[in-house]
Amino acid sequence: MQCKICQQVARALNPTFGYRVPKFYDVNDNRFVRLSSWKELRENLDCPTCSRIAALFRTDLPQYGCDSIFEEYEYYLWDSSLFQSLRLRSESQSFWPNISIRPLAEGTFEHAGVVMDRDWVDLERALSWVRSYDTTHDKCHRPFVSLDEPFVGRGMYLISVSRNCLVEAKVGEKYVTLSYVWGTTSGGLKCTKANLNSLRSDGSLSRKNIRQHLPDTIQRAMKFTLQLGFDLLWVDCLCIVQDDPVHTAAQINNMASIYSNSCLTLCAADGPDANSGLRGVPGCSQPRNIQQDILAFTDGLATSSWIRQIHGRSVYDERGWTFQEKILSRRVIAFTDHGLEWRCQETVAQEQHHHIRRVASTYSDLSIARRDTFWPCLKKWDNLVTSYLRHKLTYEEDICRAFSGISSALAGSMSEGFLFGLPQQFFDAALLWVPTEHLRPRKDTRNGVASYEFPSWSGVGWIGAIETQMNAFGLGHERSNLVSDHKARQRDIFPQATWYKIKREMGQGTLVKIPNDYAKYQSEGLQGTVALPLGWSSHRDEDEDLFYYSYDKAPSSQTFWYPIPTVRSTQPVSEVRWSSTLFFISSRSYLRMGSSLSREVQDGETYPLYSLETEEGEWAGVIYVHYDPGNTKEEKVSCELVLMSGGFAFENGEEQRDWIPEWDSENRPRSGDAYCFYHCLWIERRGDISYRRGLARVPQVVWDTLSKDDVSIFLA
Ligand SMILES: [Zn+2]
Ligand SMILES: [Zn+2]
Repeated sequence: MQCKICQQVARALNPTFGYRVPKFYDVNDNRFVRLSSWKELRENLDCPTCSRIAALFRTDLPQYGCDSIFEEYEYYLWDSSLFQSLRLRSESQSFWPNISIRPLAEGTFEHAGVVMDRDWVDLERALSWVRSYDTTHDKCHRPFVSLDEPFVGRGMYLISVSRNCLVEAKVGEKYVTLSYVWGTTSGGLKCTKANLNSLRSDGSLSRKNIRQHLPDTIQRAMKFTLQLGFDLLWVDCLCIVQDDPVHTAAQINNMASIYSNSCLTLCAADGPDANSGLRGVPGCSQPRNIQQDILAFTDGLATSSWIRQIHGRSVYDERGWTFQEKILSRRVIAFTDHGLEWRCQETVAQEQHHHIRRVASTYSDLSIARRDTFWPCLKKWDNLVTSYLRHKLTYEEDICRAFSGISSALAGSMSEGFLFGLPQQFFDAALLWVPTEHLRPRKDTRNGVASYEFPSWSGVGWIGAIETQMNAFGLGHERSNLVSDHKARQRDIFPQATWYKIKREMGQGTLVKIPNDYAKYQSEGLQGTVALPLGWSSHRDEDEDLFYYSYDKAPSSQTFWYPIPTVRSTQPVSEVRWSSTLFFISSRSYLRMGSSLSREVQDGETYPLYSLETEEGEWAGVIYVHYDPGNTKEEKVSCELVLMSGGFAFENGEEQRDWIPEWDSENRPRSGDAYCFYHCLWIERRGDISYRRGLARVPQVVWDTLSKDDVSIFLA
């Protein structure tokens, strides 16, 4: 017996029916086909498919209440022209949840799904993905960061699978990298100064007494490397001499180049530790156990596989280190709980779909890391930092080292580099990060002594959710392509303090000015008097009487309000050690904390945001408080504020209230074309050293009337 509801789905999905879906279109040109009401669907108990779909929808119901909430919902097929999904939707409510489906058809049908083998991966497909390397993928041949000869020469080790031992890497060799989670694996083999020589002798890794300590994932990766036609494999625990601090530091500093120069990364995303990955490769590992849910809409033709839009997060997804490896690799084969996945610079493929898709430029947050930006792209930095800080690390102190890989990947576009994760060229803007919840200071958890330092002025010094304010105040140099944005920059900042970093040498420190030099190029660029750095040209918009700029390595659609010096050649990684303490000279005043302005961000979380007031109780701006001091009452606390940068937001600008929470407050001064303000740090003193405690925005008219004095501050 055919189910009427499911028949409609089958007809819409089945290519032999000519793929005729359209019934009506919404504003975004999405097509919907009404299938039934939610009530009909969930009461259609005779049909196993309808029952299964109702159950899938229901798995997400508890957080939203009971079935009755969906009383007026209807059951729809949605077709975006890229994929189809089943949804619940009412007239007033947006569609939700959804089940993505694909017809199981062979070959030519673009959106077809594949019935996967429960036990074994499709090795031929994996090989075809890997072979695409040699064909048309230009970008896949180009590493983000070059692997410099001196580094390789100084002892970068690789496993030679055919010789079963460690070998020294030579420039230009093709090798594979393994990315996995060590997890709770104990007693696994690691390379140390003591066993390095024996691991370098031929056949050592196949000797029984050594092999038995080699974690399973690594053994499988070695075999699979050979199956894919390669011989050399880089694995951190064997290729880094774990108890040699000099070797370890050099490898970690070069992590970005190690991953981005490898011709393939194998990701063991399917297991919680080093003994459980890379399942289901015939002739290599144990069978896997893929649970593919097949929804049969008719007795034959149009069955379909479904996947959740948002995959459940695996241990692998949450780890900081593996996040870095994933974004730095040029080509990745990932073993996931949903089958094999392939991702390279130009294509994305999954074992459960027939087709290989081209990567759109905005495919995902990670593809931003892969996009070629040879100018200082703060959007990219912002994106990486915010997603990165969400990841878990086994040891909190790994953050700086783990982040160094991302910094080196961006170093090709950001001349002057980074200081504890913040781009030095735009230091003012980078300092404007704000918490979206109360934070905790990051501590060294490995051995109880403070062997690593975490500066309070950088987001890496805190645990908890933060946002950079690059979209608010830092993107002043990138000219938007939106027509409405062409007229004027809507918000911007300019420096008010001079910042120094401290170089550590021979037990003493030397002050070095932080090249926070965007402002010089900004002011001269806007006036058209700037000396153009290499690769830049200037243009004049006669209608608007404005100057703008283009850069030879940026696409012609991307223009800029001002030029900024860029990296023209790869520079050697600097080995200078900078102190986590900054020194700066600025002016200081005091304001009192007023009432809480916490507003909902998402899911009930709130910004730890308060108003500021003067001694006389006048409104004086807002302050983002970084941590909850416990039972001390914050209100009316006197805050020591040190000036960092000035800024403005045009009264007639767009989206101002999205970035400036006090925008609609009736207390906010409104005079002239723009809201003018200062950004100040709220500092807390412990002896001679100060620590960041909050970030304040004070209206210029208020700050100008306060009594101030000049201060010089060591900020740790
Ligand atoms: Zn049905
Ligand atoms: Zn490719």
